[in-house]
Amino acid sequence: MRGLMQETPLLISSLIDYAATYHGDTEIITRTVEGPIHRSTYAEVGRRAKQLANALKRLGVEFGDRVGTLAWNTHRHFEIYYGVSGSGFVLHTVNPRLFPDQIEYIINHAEDKLVFVDLTFVPLLERCADKLKTVQGFVIMTDAEHMPKTTLPNVHCYETLIGAESDVFAWPTFDENTASSLCYTSGTTGNPKGVLYSHRSTVIHSFMVCMGDTIGVTSHDSVLVVVPLFHANAWGMPYAAAMCGAKLVFPGQAMDGKNICELLQNEKVTLSMGVPTVWLMLFQYADQNPGLKLPDLGRVVIGGSAAPRAMIKRFHDDFGARVIHAWGMTEMSPIGTAGHLLRKQMDLDIEQQIDIQARQGRAVYGVGLKIVDDDGKELPRDGKAFGHLMVRGPCITRSYFKGEGGQIVDADNWFDTGDIATLDGDGFMQITDRSKDVIKSGGEWISSIDLENEALGHPGVQEAAVIGVTHPKWQERPLLVVVKKKGAEVSRDDVLKYLESRVAKWWLPDDVVFVDELPHTATGKLLKTKLRQDFKDYRLPTASDAAE
Ligand code: AMP
Repeated sequence: MRGLMQETPLLISSLIDYAATYHGDTEIITRTVEGPIHRSTYAEVGRRAKQLANALKRLGVEFGDRVGTLAWNTHRHFEIYYGVSGSGFVLHTVNPRLFPDQIEYIINHAEDKLVFVDLTFVPLLERCADKLKTVQGFVIMTDAEHMPKTTLPNVHCYETLIGAESDVFAWPTFDENTASSLCYTSGTTGNPKGVLYSHRSTVIHSFMVCMGDTIGVTSHDSVLVVVPLFHANAWGMPYAAAMCGAKLVFPGQAMDGKNICELLQNEKVTLSMGVPTVWLMLFQYADQNPGLKLPDLGRVVIGGSAAPRAMIKRFHDDFGARVIHAWGMTEMSPIGTAGHLLRKQMDLDIEQQIDIQARQGRAVYGVGLKIVDDDGKELPRDGKAFGHLMVRGPCITRSYFKGEGGQIVDADNWFDTGDIATLDGDGFMQITDRSKDVIKSGGEWISSIDLENEALGHPGVQEAAVIGVTHPKWQERPLLVVVKKKGAEVSRDDVLKYLESRVAKWWLPDDVVFVDELPHTATGKLLKTKLRQDFKDYRLPTASDAAE
């Protein structure tokens, strides 16, 4: 027997309609690419998204067509999120930090019909425009006054284009499983693969983000979205914020500590989200400006890479802000877990609480999690056993776009995340490594992430990466590669001494090397493949002892 409730499809257009109607005067703030701060509202975004929808129709974009963006976090990009998906087209957010040949590859692979581009990225597209086989036109995201001279063919100016259209448009209704947006993963090997979200998965994910034990965003929040709109839907915030009417603050291309700090203060930001690297920049700025206060900031969501314990502590001690450590991936829309203390943990002392927050948190409702061994056998949830982390749920992909990579889920829909993790009896998950990065010493696994986190606690260490280096006796031993903090005097022995009391003896890195900078992927993660390549002939000091 079927239930008798209305089968209203869950569509992205309903989010902006709701925000425009019930939170019409809530502000959307942008540090524009052109420079000044721009102030808009949900009502205005709602109107302009409809103008854009009319423009897209006039340009001949058809149901299911892909529309690309190469853009920063701005009000215009936000409008495009709704104008494109709301019309039944597929929003393809391209990561402009990818190598130019990867950008060319994914625009061709996605078969984008139209590409929206920020002023900053026009030169990038000019260099490959003639190789973009399906693109029929480009829209430069600026006004007439700032339009650049360009060799791009069939160019439109965003403001002129939408300014010519009516703001009357009825969002179409269609099956909620229709594709809504496309985001390519920044895989460290091979070509990027497309994750194709649906309207249904996106709306369900928005409910998940709004839940109190996930991010708990509400209409009382002012949210600084530092995580890019081109990276995994900015962790779902552009949709979740509209669902609850939260104020949004977009930093544009100015992601430096000073600008982030100004936005946090001036826009009374209560909640922000971003990868650890961004917060390191904020901390550097705070170091140069002693006594800096962020009185409104209550929660900071950190994910994308492990949030170091020292970072969680500093947010608590210096700014009175609580870190919500989250884990997920592009393939998961992207949120999988979020770190909140359980009621029974509320009375623990702060150091113990921070230890708990340094784990990646517990599964959000809607995300199935388990860890398995190499044979696929489920491992115990005892906080000790670590294995391959598997996930399933309505916001998790079952196949990459155009079937790239073949079958990626098992018969029961479990998807292998490629992460290695532990799960404890309370359901707290802790990532110990990427399966490809795990260090195998004498057959036992050493967690490179744990070592990196501990090393980051040293006051002279700005950034740390641990890789396995070949060893004659142990097959592999850890090598710690460090970027020093500006002006810090740190030696190899200082770091090793610091780690001695913090990690198991056999985990201690066999050597510490100092470098000026570490390689990163387009989404800011450590690029360990490059690091392993750089150090492939590195001879550990312990290697000769073993050989003797
Ligand atoms: P992406 O799809 O680019 O967002 O990358 C997803 C991957 O980033 C995950 O599979 C993890 O390896 C890593 N990741 C994301 N969040 C965290 C976290 N909180 N701690 C450790 N690794 C993380």
